[in-house]
Amino acid sequence: MAEAYKDPADNKRKTVSYTVDFGRCMFCGLCVESCPKKCLVHTTDYELVSYNRAGMVLGKDKIVKR
Ligand code: SF4
Repeated sequence: MAEAYKDPADNKRKTVSYTVDFGRCMFCGLCVESCPKKCLVHTTDYELVSYNRAGMVLGKDKIVKR
């Protein structure tokens, strides 16, 4: 889920928040294939386990590699 707004200064969309619910993701790869900017990738980083469903919702700070 993403929240964004259009910045009137440069007329571009800016992201406010971005989360992925890995409790719902099937890792089908459709989002990776269809991403027009090629900014989504699947990795072998699988240690995102949690003991509850709320812990499976990860924000940009946890899923973006810098
Ligand atoms: S891989 Fe992407 S398109 Fe597929 S279920 Fe997960 S988030 Fe949705």
